[in-house]
Amino acid sequence: MSTPDPIGSTRCVACGPVSALPVETTDGFRIVRCQQCSLVFVDGWHALGGLDELYGPAYFRTDGASTIGYGDYLAHRSLHLKNSRSLLAILEREAPGAGRRLVDIGCAHGFFLAAARDRGWTGYGVDISADAVRYARDTLGLAVFRGDIDQAGLEPGSFDAVTLIGTIEHMPDPLVTLRAAARLLRPGGQLLITTLNIEGVLRWYEWKPPEHLYYFSFRTLAPLVRAAGLELRWHRWYWAWYSVSDLTARLWRYWRLPGAVRVARALTRPGLERLAVRIPTNEMIVLARKS
Ligand SMILES: [Zn+2]
Repeated sequence: MSTPDPIGSTRCVACGPVSALPVETTDGFRIVRCQQCSLVFVDGWHALGGLDELYGPAYFRTDGASTIGYGDYLAHRSLHLKNSRSLLAILEREAPGAGRRLVDIGCAHGFFLAAARDRGWTGYGVDISADAVRYARDTLGLAVFRGDIDQAGLEPGSFDAVTLIGTIEHMPDPLVTLRAAARLLRPGGQLLITTLNIEGVLRWYEWKPPEHLYYFSFRTLAPLVRAAGLELRWHRWYWAWYSVSDLTARLWRYWRLPGAVRVARALTRPGLERLAVRIPTNEMIVLARKS
């Protein structure tokens, strides 16, 4: 197999100006691998605009045919709550007896914050989606800010935990986000990240630009976490609850099996939408700490 030619100059969030190798071109977006640090990302991330329009109502409720977005995010509320509880248990186990103030960056409709509130946490959320933020505030009564984390008016150095759950891969500049997270944490505070691991054992994933701008492995994420001034503690596989309908849609799309959408739709019928399995996903959990 011949090595593809480098695409010439691009900008890597970790390395600055570098040359990169082409990995994939999807929907007009070029996905590349930095030749210096191996980070895989959408070329031209620094010039992307219009991302807030991407996260409208249609993003959270697709027909299962699209690679972008969720089948039906709200219908799987109980799964989001279940997954949230297991992530919260990690934070509580790692720092027992610590305070209970957290910020969830990319909080969407706020299910993680709702689960946190049930366990005695005081939580704040930030998200780009106007629709999701409205739901979090009006339906769940949560303290959620729409927009950029740096504009949310949260007190630096005052939080016991910051979470980026399936969020960092969406951020145009993840280093800026990680630095913002680090600023919010008190000394000893914890950062919990979940994101796709492209070097994980399960290599089933989809290229999803411009939804996913970064495709990390632990090897490529770790230097960014350190560059934000945080100390890495551990990383592991993320076992998560998945709805059988979402899983079917994803797997069938992955293998390009005909009828995938019909089967996925059949599985969202009343009574079946609750079918769920806990599986080792191709995502990782990364825990870091502010020293
Ligand atoms: Zn790089």
